Amino acid sequence: MPAQLALEGGKPVVPAGAVQPWPPLTQADREAVLAVFESNELHGTHAPRARALEERWAAYIGTRYALVANSGTAALHMAIAAAGIGPGDEVITSAFTYWSTAAAVLHNNAVPVFADIDPRTYTIDPTLIEERVTDRTRAVLPVHIHGMPADMDPIIEIARRHGLVVIGDCCQAHGATYKGVKVGKIEDMGCFSCNRSKNLSGGEGGLFTTDNEDYWRHADMLRQFGEVVLPDKPREYNAYALGWMYRPHEFVNAFILSQLDRLDEYNAIRRQLANYLTAALEEIPGFAGPYTPEYADPCYFTYVVEFRPHEVGLDVPTLEFRRAMEHALAAEGVHMHQWQRMPVPAQDVFQKRVGYGKGCPWTCPFGRGDIYYDPAEYPRTWEFLASHSYLRGVYPPNDLSLMQLYVDAFAKVSENAVRALELYRKEAAS
Ligand SMILES: *Cc1c(COP(=O)(O)O)cnc(C)c1O
Repeated sequence: MPAQLALEGGKPVVPAGAVQPWPPLTQADREAVLAVFESNELHGTHAPRARALEERWAAYIGTRYALVANSGTAALHMAIAAAGIGPGDEVITSAFTYWSTAAAVLHNNAVPVFADIDPRTYTIDPTLIEERVTDRTRAVLPVHIHGMPADMDPIIEIARRHGLVVIGDCCQAHGATYKGVKVGKIEDMGCFSCNRSKNLSGGEGGLFTTDNEDYWRHADMLRQFGEVVLPDKPREYNAYALGWMYRPHEFVNAFILSQLDRLDEYNAIRRQLANYLTAALEEIPGFAGPYTPEYADPCYFTYVVEFRPHEVGLDVPTLEFRRAMEHALAAEGVHMHQWQRMPVPAQDVFQKRVGYGKGCPWTCPFGRGDIYYDPAEYPRTWEFLASHSYLRGVYPPNDLSLMQLYVDAFAKVSENAVRALELYRKEAAS
């Protein structure tokens, strides 16, 4: 007889408090931040920790240059602006991302154009890019979502053929590689976030990478009011261009530097936990882990679980099955979640085309004016969202003992899937 579901009073598989939060905080992190107090050097693009972080990040990714900024969105905006993308220009990106990717395009008065995802990797489908290229397209902006590198070779090939800049949204992919090369190196420019949740966490923060000296200089200027600020010269207080205030803080830089000491170790643990789960879920009907293509070594920012009703003999909509199983899993102490719940172009800002007001940038006289967004154009993103969610806690300091509990819970819910669905329906009806 299968074990009783926690939903019906059975013992939850995962005890309360078993899941540790991200990121792990160490004594070294504390000391690194406190040392900033001692030094009393709190900010500035040439402050010692900003410089040290830029040097180390460029060395880590393998680029000639890196810049530290105060968010991943700032880094993306710096890249868009450094590429000279502006009013009337178009940038092709993925319909499934955190919408900051597209916001960075709008910030510079340009218009995002979306392509649907590859149903296996959830990254932009390269075969859908070329048909979206117009004489106004200036860049392609692939997103390495969930730490999974986009399929870069065909993307770069299309970009080169059409003279487009390639900007990588690497905000979820610190240390992920495509054919052995780190993301952030493959593209003309790479943009990373260091907000609390990310593989390299600083609470907040951002990093920009490039091999191109012009892009680097331009992005550097734009992150600080459009000024040129040099370490060995007095500041001129002259704006050469429109810039923003994307300067980082030394507390954050110190924290990121300290976490960076352990990034590879943490990523190795994420891979170990993810591989363990994926192998185990293969044996459990109703659930599956992520698919990993030959070309990718992902860094598992998020562990993605697919829900498969047919495997447990249920002929019900996947969305309903997912919700019912999540409900049963939560009672077992396994918490699944989603963030982005629709394709980015289905969001209000794109449906209503509210940007800078008066229809800009869409109705800007330099643009083609007729870009509208039909949510039905992104069926694979909708399908992905109906059939997948994310498993919390697949990162250090959690370890294989928690993953074993997760596997036990998935197995228990799988065996009781019919009952779990019944209970969910009853509750939904009441
Ligand atoms: C986190 C994230 C961003 C934005 O980074 P912030 O540091 O929060 O500004 C952009 N794109 C993606 C895919 C992200 O996950």
